[in-house]
Amino acid sequence: MHRALALYSGGLDSLLSILIVKEQGIDVVALKFFTGFTAPLNENDLNYAKKFGFKIEEIDIREKFIEVLKNPEYGYGKNLNPCIDCKILMLKEAKERLSKYNASFIITGEVLNQRPMSQKREVLKLIENKSTLNGLILRPLSAKLLIPTKPEAEGIVNRELLYDIWGRTRKPQLNLAKKYGIEKPPQPAGGCLLTEPSFCRKVKDLIEYDELTVQNIELLKIGRHFRVSEHCKVIVGRDEKENEFLLNNHYGTFIYPKDFKGPVVLLTGNCSEKNIDMAASICAYYSKRKTLEVVIKTATQEEIKIYSAITEEEILKYRL
Ligand code: SF4
Repeated sequence: MHRALALYSGGLDSLLSILIVKEQGIDVVALKFFTGFTAPLNENDLNYAKKFGFKIEEIDIREKFIEVLKNPEYGYGKNLNPCIDCKILMLKEAKERLSKYNASFIITGEVLNQRPMSQKREVLKLIENKSTLNGLILRPLSAKLLIPTKPEAEGIVNRELLYDIWGRTRKPQLNLAKKYGIEKPPQPAGGCLLTEPSFCRKVKDLIEYDELTVQNIELLKIGRHFRVSEHCKVIVGRDEKENEFLLNNHYGTFIYPKDFKGPVVLLTGNCSEKNIDMAASICAYYSKRKTLEVVIKTATQEEIKIYSAITEEEILKYRL
């Protein structure tokens, strides 16, 4: 039996591309790459894999992706999404796994001209060249509009049963979802935080201050973030769950109200006394108090002090 590896994002297009190829009697192993900005492997993915009968493997590429994100050879998309470099990285990683799975080609859910930057005909070709996978990337949703790939030329894949979907329309994909019995079809791509402007502001800050690490990226997913100085950041929990998470999973200086459950504030980096004062005033602001008695807890000591709340104007100055 022939086998293919699939770049699987958890989105509808990549799921459909797997099902189209599987329908031709080809075994598929789905590779879900975790960049730190996309959703990790989840129950939905596992349910699809079980329902439709394909294997799925998650591959953590966070460290490699950080290097791509800092300096993408082909630049960013509309936000901070380095889609071309990202695709090249994933395809290179997939290529390295072809022999492990005894697979002979790679499939993706790309649709010609669906995205302005990374899915133009010439860009698809560039991605193929850069990942040194010439003729080995099959894009089942748009294959009939593209040059035949090796698996098509060799008769492993029947080109007639592939599709000619083009552009941003969703109708053909939704019809296919119906055909395959996909209830509540997922979004086209798996959802990438680098396409969200508010998240990108926080990522840009980490890049600017040379603090882009796996741990700092994870921390961006919770709380409100403030850059209070070159070496110090303040993170404020937005609810009880985030407050608990900050307290139990991170190191640094913590500030929280002394007499009631309120926002937990975490300072990261090399923070000065002035930064701690500012963070305590931020804690008072989010506790909705004009003045507040707070606990300031470092690794070695705990002290209690009273602070006035920072003004809204100042909050906006530091908020990322
Ligand atoms: S949207 Fe995000 S995950 Fe998707 S290709 Fe672009 S950078 Fe990569």
